[in-house]
Amino acid sequence: MYDIAILGGGPAGLSAAINARVRNKTVAVISNACQDNPLYRSGHVPNYPALPDISGAELLERMHAQAVGLGAEWIEKRLIAAMYVGKSWMLSAAETVLESRVLILAGGIIRGEKFPGEQQWMGRGVSYCATCDGMLYRKKRVVVYGETESAEQEANYLKEIGCIVVYLSRRPEQGKLVGTIPFIRIKTLELGGDTVLTHVLADGEKIACDGVFLLRASVAPMDLIPGLAIQDGHIRVSPRMETNFPALYAAGDCTGQPYQIAKAVGEGQVAALAAVSWLDRRPE
Ligand SMILES: Cc1cc2nc3c(=O)[nH]c(=O)nc-3n(C[C@H](O)[C@H](O)[C@H](O)COP(=O)(O)OP(=O)(O)OC[C@H]3O[C@@H](n4cnc5c(N)ncnc54)[C@H](O)[C@@H]3O)c2cc1C
Repeated sequence: MYDIAILGGGPAGLSAAINARVRNKTVAVISNACQDNPLYRSGHVPNYPALPDISGAELLERMHAQAVGLGAEWIEKRLIAAMYVGKSWMLSAAETVLESRVLILAGGIIRGEKFPGEQQWMGRGVSYCATCDGMLYRKKRVVVYGETESAEQEANYLKEIGCIVVYLSRRPEQGKLVGTIPFIRIKTLELGGDTVLTHVLADGEKIACDGVFLLRASVAPMDLIPGLAIQDGHIRVSPRMETNFPALYAAGDCTGQPYQIAKAVGEGQVAALAAVSWLDRRPE
């Protein structure tokens, strides 16, 4: 049981982690690798105070080192489900289940767009976690859609356990995919079948398969937490970064514009301090 779990290891999540650790709370940051954050690829961040020559990669690595150095636990996995049960959040990150008293959402810009057919075949051929569901598809044909190094590594795992894998992405190959997995760069993806999923259409081209693993870098928060209040496409928050759920805060790009590092860092701090004060006041 952690005091505070944080979804997302970008500037907002790491600032929240640093501030919660300074207040002596136990902290877990559940995130994709720093290298998978789009900011990591920015060679120059000109507007972060006091660090005029810093790159996105160095800024993220320094924030990460500070948070981990203060004792925050870094859990490099994709969060795929979150549920408030009684007095705590149950969090499912690949095959790991974690529990925390408070959850701070800091997963960046909401990318909620689903592929045509995705909703229809959910649970009948569509999976969001290779480690959780891979064994169900041993010796079967699977299509993996991903955008990150870790998605490519998950595709390698599926290959290792005996799945016949084709990898699709809207981004160029990230360099981790084993050579025996075909890589296809696509613009559009559609899922199809009858009673179960039978194929995908990748840029209109039919690829037969028994399962599809959709390993996007992020999960839209409204899919993670049904009932989460959204306003103008962002998580609705109070000035203390509270959402409409108990013990649930949000910070950074996911709460709205401007999409900027300094704003994300500030909101991460506000969310952490509000969470700490809630933890200190809550009835046992
Ligand atoms: C190329 C580029 C250059 C930029 N340059 C500047 C600049 O010069 N100055 C400036 O102020 N801003 C800049 N920005 C914007 C800035 O990067 C963002 O405003 C800032 O990173 C937002 O921080 P955040 O923590 O809210 O979200 P993010 O930095 O997006 O971090 C969210 C993290 O959560 C992870 N995540 C999301 N969902 C899940 C999940 N379900 N499981 C696990 N992990 C998950 C994501 O992979 C990501 O790593 C730039 C952005 C880009 C892309």
